[in-house]
Amino acid sequence: MNDNERMAELLLPDITKTPDYYEDLYKPRNLPEGARVTRIAPSPTGYLHLGTLFAALVNRITATSTGGVFYTRIEDTDKKREIKGGIEDIIDGLNRFGITIDEGFISGEVQKGEYGPYKQSERAEIYKTYAKQLIKQGLAYPCFCTAEDLDAVRKVQEENKVRTGYHGEWAKHRNITFDEAKALIECGKPYVVRLKSPGSEENKIVFDDCIKGKIEMPENDEDFVILKSDGIPTYHFAHAVDDHLMRTTHVLRGDEWISSVPKHLQLFKLLGFKPPKYGHISPIMKLDGGAKRKISKRKDPEAAVHFFAEQGYEAESVIEYLMTVAASDFEDWRRANPEKSYKDFKFNLKKMSVSGALFDGDKLNDVSKTCVSRLSGEEVYNKLTAWAKEFDGEFFTLLTRDGDYTKAMLSIDRDVPKPRKDIAKWNETKDYFSYFFNELYENELVLPENISPCDAKEFLKRYKTVYNVSDDRQQWFDKIKSIAPEIGFAAETKQYKAEPEKYKGHAGDLSTVLRITVTGRRNTPDLCSIMKVLGYDTCIARIEKAINTL
Ligand code: GLU
Repeated sequence: MNDNERMAELLLPDITKTPDYYEDLYKPRNLPEGARVTRIAPSPTGYLHLGTLFAALVNRITATSTGGVFYTRIEDTDKKREIKGGIEDIIDGLNRFGITIDEGFISGEVQKGEYGPYKQSERAEIYKTYAKQLIKQGLAYPCFCTAEDLDAVRKVQEENKVRTGYHGEWAKHRNITFDEAKALIECGKPYVVRLKSPGSEENKIVFDDCIKGKIEMPENDEDFVILKSDGIPTYHFAHAVDDHLMRTTHVLRGDEWISSVPKHLQLFKLLGFKPPKYGHISPIMKLDGGAKRKISKRKDPEAAVHFFAEQGYEAESVIEYLMTVAASDFEDWRRANPEKSYKDFKFNLKKMSVSGALFDGDKLNDVSKTCVSRLSGEEVYNKLTAWAKEFDGEFFTLLTRDGDYTKAMLSIDRDVPKPRKDIAKWNETKDYFSYFFNELYENELVLPENISPCDAKEFLKRYKTVYNVSDDRQQWFDKIKSIAPEIGFAAETKQYKAEPEKYKGHAGDLSTVLRITVTGRRNTPDLCSIMKVLGYDTCIARIEKAINTL
């Protein structure tokens, strides 16, 4: 045994397997040429946030459009920051948003696939096996520096205006001998394992980022930590080992990792692994006082995906919106293919924003209105009541009191060639549909300026006597038109426009009076249909009340 081998035995005596064992266990995937294997690797330190959902979508659609595999891996090496239920929240959240997971954690507790375990805390032996190999090869070593030692070195570096960090001559234990290490371990001194970086700051590395294009950076010369003092790997080391053994072809992750690529490429090389392709996703940004900044978990409610559920955005709407953020050519494709699933879109990473796309709430609402407008009355009923059940019990009771009534209300102006695009999220609907429920309905009878209360009252009196709930749209409007000339209004808008001085207004104005009387609004979906759903008694009661108030 040479000194390096003795060192490896000293540090990791319990590790008996070799990398060959794992290479054989996790065979290269049998996938067609060009199929991409992608993943997300969330840490369960918080709830599902927009950035993770976005990254999951980008990874999922990359795998889908190449016939590849998308898997999840839980990076739970930071036990102190882990929150209870974090894994469930993230994975269930992805499922709710229709992000199908082929492999890895498919629910909070269930892992599936042949490349597992998919949770880093269950892979300790694997990391140690690879670390042991690096030590044997003289490519890693134990470092006994305490936090105070490292601080002291940093101070000296700062004073001397040298780049801070554990590199080159500053790497105190870089050449530690077996005997020195043994003595320190016998004294019970804690240590970490560091990579013995063969790199030099003078050299440049170049890599082709699938999203950002060609990037040049100095080579890594830092002897960074690969195993912490408790034997747990750092992100860098676990990333290299896991993405290699899980046969990831494309690592598409947040661009906060871009500066670590030199470390990662070096690790892949020293471990003898073929590196994956990297693509760094720019964060979703927000405008704040005119300046663009990253959406913040602390400041912005929309950073947490729960926010969208609470507001009552449908998962499909959020995904459809995120597709417009992910791909600059998605909207054109959507216009040409309104009926297709977004999963059929040929996604190209090169069409992603390099600087970070802005989160645009108005755009989300527009996209969502289109999505909701495509749903049938029955679908809206099911989705709206499911939302209300969770977030607005009072509204849920009203909606489900008479399901047929609610469905009829929700079906107005739907299932027609050009449905109204009026609802973006369910939390707007209580107000939007309030006039359908006496409990929610209030009417201050604010008439348009050009109509006097006296004319409105006269119109309503006459209308009341001819109103028939079974009139179709044509008959319904004809009745309004026939009253118009009797009270000095033009039956046709054309007539009114030609000689406005001759009339008080036109039949359209009178239908506005009726609309305000029955709904309290100037603008609603088709009024004839609304009145049918409300029913004769309610309409008459509202008309009478207006006659008495005006
Ligand atoms: N656990 C890392 C994170 O939370 C994963 C980064 C990656 O995708 O490699 O950002």
